[in-house]
Amino acid sequence: SQPAVDTDALIIGAGPAGLFQAFQLGLQGIQAHLVDALPHIGGQCSQLYGHKPIYDIPGIPVCTGQELVQLLEAQIAPMAVPRNLSQQVETVRPLDDGRWQVGTTAGTVFHARTVFIAAGVGAFVPKALKVPGVEALAADQLFYHPSQLDMVQGRTVVIYGGDEEAVNAAIQCSAEDGAKAAKTYLMHRRDAFNAEPAQLAQLQQLRDNGAIEVLIGQITEVQPNGELLKSVQWMDGDGNEHPLPTELLLVFQGISPRLGPLTDWGLALERKQLLVDPATLATSAQGIYAIGDIVSYPGKKRLILCAFHEATMAAFAAAEYLQGHKPLLEYTTTSARLHSILGVS
Ligand code: FAD
Repeated sequence: SQPAVDTDALIIGAGPAGLFQAFQLGLQGIQAHLVDALPHIGGQCSQLYGHKPIYDIPGIPVCTGQELVQLLEAQIAPMAVPRNLSQQVETVRPLDDGRWQVGTTAGTVFHARTVFIAAGVGAFVPKALKVPGVEALAADQLFYHPSQLDMVQGRTVVIYGGDEEAVNAAIQCSAEDGAKAAKTYLMHRRDAFNAEPAQLAQLQQLRDNGAIEVLIGQITEVQPNGELLKSVQWMDGDGNEHPLPTELLLVFQGISPRLGPLTDWGLALERKQLLVDPATLATSAQGIYAIGDIVSYPGKKRLILCAFHEATMAAFAAAEYLQGHKPLLEYTTTSARLHSILGVS
């Protein structure tokens, strides 16, 4: 197992709250690490409404969800915050010396003096395929929402799903200049796919020339052969079952937020929200703070600008906890210390 990463601060969740938390901690001279279940930063802003406009960020009359994430990314660049993506935090346990041991699904372990839970509406995780045999598959046989497709080269692949990402993956696996799968199947419950007209036209063209075979039905079982995937069993619309030899299974059943293990961390909750003191954003456990959509206090509003305020309050409180004295309030406009942190003169 990997050695534990020692850090003053660990931020769980890289949505707008977690990103701005890293900035505010940086201004306090506290180095943080970020963890997110998604393979990218931005939380709801990038996952749920990347191309839609936001009109209520102070000083930014309008920007899209993705543009806000890019602006936050640029703002925290001076803090050089390590990102631990594509991994969900599973465990948060106290250590004897007052620190917290935090473990992720990727096997990363942190020993953190402070923890900031910015978990929003939960960890964005792919919807799992729930059919017999799935648990026995090796990690390189079954992929959920893969972001690159190099592994399909020269292999038979079943893409399972009907949304834009599934259609795109099927096109990429089978197109002349694509990832060059030996054979591409696209399986979906209905012969109706949810994608842009241009992609649907390309899909039709690849179906017509035999590069993609579309199967209408659902997977009922997977049949591993030792470590390897041998075939999937699927049922067509008439209820008939068929075996389909394949080497790889790419599943696109959607990504949705799950509160997950957070409720097991021993923190005070009210209606699945973490209870915090609004003056410090401290939870019921010493050294653990929580901000953004996951928290509850009298008057809480689930808005990005409120999360930014909470990140600021939490950073001041954590600085006092870590450094043993109240931090000074300094302006980024005039403080030489802050200029040095920001790399500006
Ligand atoms: P999130 O954005 O939910 O990010 C939380 C992150 O934590 C996620 O990436 C998740 O994967 C990760 N995470 C959670 N648990 C774990 C774990 N155990 N391990 C690892 N990672 C974990 N707000 C506004 O102010 N203005 C708007 O105009 C606006 N428009 C919106 C439009 C839509 C369609 C939606 C859905 C929301 C909108 N909001 C708007 C609300 C705003 O997006 C949220 O208030 C904001 O995203 C909350 O930020 P957050 O960082 O707290 O949580």
